[in-house]
Amino acid sequence: MNGECRLCGKHGIMERHHVFGGVYRKTSDRIEGCVVTLCPECHRHIHSSKGWEDKQQLQCDIQYEVMDANGWTVRDWLNLWGKSWI
Ligand SMILES: [Zn+2]
Ligand SMILES: [Zn+2]
Repeated sequence: MNGECRLCGKHGIMERHHVFGGVYRKTSDRIEGCVVTLCPECHRHIHSSKGWEDKQQLQCDIQYEVMDANGWTVRDWLNLWGKSWI
């Protein structure tokens, strides 16, 4: 899949990254914007212990973006996800 890396802005072959993983993966698949494209380097980074801060920042940014796009409040978000990242 070609695209742009959400983290470093590089163009090229990208991988799909579920911003809210684990038990939230299924919900992420249903809601637009919760799966982003990352270059292989950034994808590795964000799943490593060194990438912990970037991962948190991305979750916060994406939650704001998706809430904005859907006109949701934090309460709406919580009703859907049961957890907030902001
Ligand atoms: Zn990248
Ligand atoms: Zn990933």
